[in-house]
Amino acid sequence: MPKTFSSLLEVMQEIPDEQTAIDHFTAIRWQQGKFCPHCNSARVYHFADKRTHKCGDCRKRSSIRAGTIFEDSKLPLRTWILAIWLITSHKKGIASTKLAKDLGITQKSAWFVLHRLRHAAQTQSFNRLLTGEVEADENVVGSKEKNKHVWQRTCGR
Ligand SMILES: [Zn+2]
Repeated sequence: MPKTFSSLLEVMQEIPDEQTAIDHFTAIRWQQGKFCPHCNSARVYHFADKRTHKCGDCRKRSSIRAGTIFEDSKLPLRTWILAIWLITSHKKGIASTKLAKDLGITQKSAWFVLHRLRHAAQTQSFNRLLTGEVEADENVVGSKEKNKHVWQRTCGR
């Protein structure tokens, strides 16, 4: 079972760097067993860098972010996890300007994060966005009950 947290401080202490963030997300994503994001094979092998995996069937390489909403983002997974904590802690929504300031990222990045996480909240899944699916006015992520599910999937709260 992935670890659960009770405060932002605890998240920051338990996930002090990018590798622990990757390990944490890996535990969540492969909770039901590891699988290849390309062909779903369970014959997945791991490279010594603890970040790269290779499929024994289709032979393709991947990271744990492949096939998720984090796949094409340059932001560290740790930043995403902290963003999810912040977003779900603000019951009335958080502005992209505030999120940018709290995470030390650009407002453009913060807007992107909010957009992606809103999608994850709506679909209750980290599966990748369908192409062409765009929503306007993503400044604020509301306090939808569904946000809880996103959080459970990332931080187990
Ligand atoms: Zn495969």
